[in-house]
Amino acid sequence: MISRLVIFGASGDLATRYLFPAIIRLFEAEREPDDLSILALSRQEWNTSDYRAHVRKNLHGLHEKFTKKCINHLMSRLQYKQIADTGDHKEIAHALGSLDDPSIFYLALPPSIFASTIKALGQLDLHEKCRVIVEKPFGQDLKSARSLNRLLKKTFSEQHIFRIDHFLGEQTVRNVLGFRFANRLFESSWNNQHIERVDIIWDETLALEGRASYYDSSGALKDMIQNHLLQLLCLIGMEPPHSFDDRDFHDQKVNVLHAIRRMSSAEIKRYTVRARYAAGTTNHKAIPAYKDEEGVDPKRKTETFAQVTLFIDNWRWGGVPFTLRSGKALSQDKFEIAVHFRKVPYQVFGATSVPANVLRMQFNPDKIGISVNLNGAGEPFDLEEFELNAAFAQQKIPAYGHLLLDAFEGDPTLFIRDDEVEAMWRIVDPIMKSWEKGQVKLQTYPAGSSGPNCE
Ligand code: NDP
Repeated sequence: MISRLVIFGASGDLATRYLFPAIIRLFEAEREPDDLSILALSRQEWNTSDYRAHVRKNLHGLHEKFTKKCINHLMSRLQYKQIADTGDHKEIAHALGSLDDPSIFYLALPPSIFASTIKALGQLDLHEKCRVIVEKPFGQDLKSARSLNRLLKKTFSEQHIFRIDHFLGEQTVRNVLGFRFANRLFESSWNNQHIERVDIIWDETLALEGRASYYDSSGALKDMIQNHLLQLLCLIGMEPPHSFDDRDFHDQKVNVLHAIRRMSSAEIKRYTVRARYAAGTTNHKAIPAYKDEEGVDPKRKTETFAQVTLFIDNWRWGGVPFTLRSGKALSQDKFEIAVHFRKVPYQVFGATSVPANVLRMQFNPDKIGISVNLNGAGEPFDLEEFELNAAFAQQKIPAYGHLLLDAFEGDPTLFIRDDEVEAMWRIVDPIMKSWEKGQVKLQTYPAGSSGPNCE
């Protein structure tokens, strides 16, 4: 079992806004490894007590509330060391002190320094049970993802590499698995005979919110579609695994990814949309045009809206469009997977048009609902559309908590395997290249609108 969590980039947004709250929830649930110690590393000239004060302040600034007891518990486990260069193995060794502890290294760092940090870790004589958690984006394209995989495997075995996608720790995402593989009812209609299309949507009202240093070199396609939304597609499109053993689960996801059609230039023009917001208003707040946001390089043409329609070329899904869409500064927050069934084959209710059933798996708040047509409420043969809903309270342990726990316990099932991350890039790479060449026009949409024309 892991006894030490080492966080690189511990002064950053991810560590303070997501990792520590998640760790506190694990403490509350008494799920953390016994005697877990946490070593936080960053370039800030702080000592442990400065860092603890920094974490406390950040925790108090969050919406969610934590008990004093749990915060104190966290503080008692937490040490801080300053390191100037995460690529310097001697500095890391000095900060770590003993190399005998089975540790897990969390790279909460800008992706540009993942490789140098991994190289430095590779130069240390680490305990054989050491593990590493690598944040997204994993690589900038297929080539760089491959080389990052090669580099990681020089130091860690695949079982000890945890490529994280926090969506896989979300309860609605995990509910998709139960929904699909523990209910006889839906499997017989889970195919192109009954399903017309699938929309996987992550629309945000939030604009850039000061994150230009990260977002401007990424954009919606790499930030959302290459990882999170393709993962959701895998869970909808995969065949039932033999078990939830990590190998079976990943094999099935990789099979779907391999079956996704590589688009030709003509298909990319037809099936993808890229756009960015112009000035407007969202959430009653005036938003400047993306190109005028602080820290943005307007020449880069980074998109804040991406839509890609993919086809899974196999017997189950042949011909069914899967549309993946994500945008910022839109008129409404909409986080959902919508499975649109085909209309009934024949209208027994005379001229009344019967709406098709739609299954919606929604996030924030988490809910799974299916629309059904019933006729008991009013006139005997007048149809009405109802929603059957299962709503879920906010999960007590957040996504990062569940995934940290899995990594502590050595279970990579809900992480991304090496061939999986490469398969995802293989789908996105040609789109990225075509967009870079300007083959698909960069549209604009006013902030606060429903987005660009996607016809
Ligand atoms: P930050 O940009 O806040 O960077 C994290 C920390 O890395 C900084 O606090 C900084 O600490 C350190 N750092 C920056 N540049 C260097 C450098 N050249 N050498 C050494 N250390 C450096 O990133 P986030 O915390 O937002 O994200 C961390 C990772 O998590 C990224 O890979 C990101 O893509 C991923 N992620 C982030 C999410 C978020 O919402 N924040 C969500 C999902 C994934 P210091 O200068 O003090 O050393």
